Amino acid sequence: KKNANGNYNVTLIPGDGIGPEIAESVVKIYKAAGVPIEWEPVSVTPVLKNGKVAIPDEALHSVKKNTVALKGPLATPIGKGHVSLNLTLRRTFNLYANVRPCKSVVGFKTPYDNVDTVLIRENTEGEYSGIEHEVVDGVVQSIKLITKDASDRCARYAFNYAKETGRNRVTAVHKANIMKLSDGLFLSSCQEVAKEFPEVKFDDLLLDRACLQIVQDPSVYADTVMVMPNLYGDILSDMSAGLIGGLGLTPSGNIGRDASIFEAVHGTAPDIAGQDKANPTALLFSSVLMLRHMGLNKYADQIEKATLKVIADGKVLTGDLGGRSTNTEFTNAIISELQQRA
Ligand code: ATP
Ligand code: MG
Repeated sequence: KKNANGNYNVTLIPGDGIGPEIAESVVKIYKAAGVPIEWEPVSVTPVLKNGKVAIPDEALHSVKKNTVALKGPLATPIGKGHVSLNLTLRRTFNLYANVRPCKSVVGFKTPYDNVDTVLIRENTEGEYSGIEHEVVDGVVQSIKLITKDASDRCARYAFNYAKETGRNRVTAVHKANIMKLSDGLFLSSCQEVAKEFPEVKFDDLLLDRACLQIVQDPSVYADTVMVMPNLYGDILSDMSAGLIGGLGLTPSGNIGRDASIFEAVHGTAPDIAGQDKANPTALLFSSVLMLRHMGLNKYADQIEKATLKVIADGKVLTGDLGGRSTNTEFTNAIISELQQRA
C-alpha cells in the first residue's frame, strides 16, 4: 500500500481543542524520525447532508482509501439529533475491536510502577447495541446482544496481537457464570479461536476477580492480552489507564474491517487549548500503536524510546506531568533525543 514515493499515506484528523497542537507535534516528530508516512490532513467537522448532520465525504473517502488514520480528540456537538462522531466513525468503518495498552511510565510517579496490561474490547455490540424499550410504565428492558461473528473476530484479533507482540497468552474476561448464554457465547468463541493458535496460551477469568487482582497486583497481567465484551472493556480500560496515571498518557487503537483509527484516550481539554500546554504523548503513543499495526516497528521503537527517555529525565515536562515546559519544548526535546540516537 505504498504510494508512488515509496511512502504510506495516512489520514490525519487533528480534531478539536488541543487536537491540532498535539497533532502538529506528532507530525514534527515523524519528520525528524524520517518515518515513511505522508499525512493527509482532513477535517471531520460535521456538515449538513440531506438535512442530517454527517461527517464530510472528503474525510470518509480519505480514511477508506488509506485504511489507517490518526485522530485527535473530537468535541461532541451539543444538541438534539447529533449522533456522536466517534460512533459514526465506528459504524462507518466497522471498528470492531478497541485495543488499549497501559504501561507504567518511568519518571511519572503513580501508586503503581509495574503496570503493563493490554486490553482488547469488543467494540460493536454487547450492552452498547442500543436496543432498549419500555415494557410498561416503570419497567424497561435493555438488550445485550452478543454474536458469534463479532466475538470471533475480536478474539482472533486478540490472539494475533498476542502472537505479534510476544505476550503469548490471551485471557478472556467475562461473567459467563451469570450470563450463561451471552457471555457464554463470547467465551466459547474465544475457546474455539484459541485452537487456531496452538502457540498462544489461553485462559479465562471472571470480571470481578480481574478487577480485584489488577488493583492488588497489576503485574499478574503483564504477560497476557485481556479480551472482553464491550461494557467490561469500557470500564476496565479506564481503570487500567488510572493505574498508570490517567488519560494523559494512554493510547488506543480502533481496529476495523475497513480501516483502523488510532486515537488518544483523553478529550479536547478546552481548559488548556491554544496555550501550548498540552502533552502530546497519548496521541504520539497512539501513533506508535499505529506504526506497529502497519509493521513499521523500527520507527515505533525509536519514537517510543525517545519519548520515554525525555519523561524519565524529568527536565522537560508538560504541566500535567508536573513540569513547566510547553508542548513545543517537550516536542523539541523528543526530537533532539531522536537525533542523538540516530
Ligand atoms: P471533552 O469534553 O472533549 O471530553 P474534557 O473537558 O472532558 O473534554 P478532557 O480532555 O477529558 O477534558 O481532560 C480532562 C482534564 O485533563 C482537563 O483538565 C485537561 O486539561 C487535562 N488533559 C487532558 N488531556 C491532556 C493532555 N494531552 N495534556 C495535558 N492535559 C490534558
Ligand atoms: Mg471528557
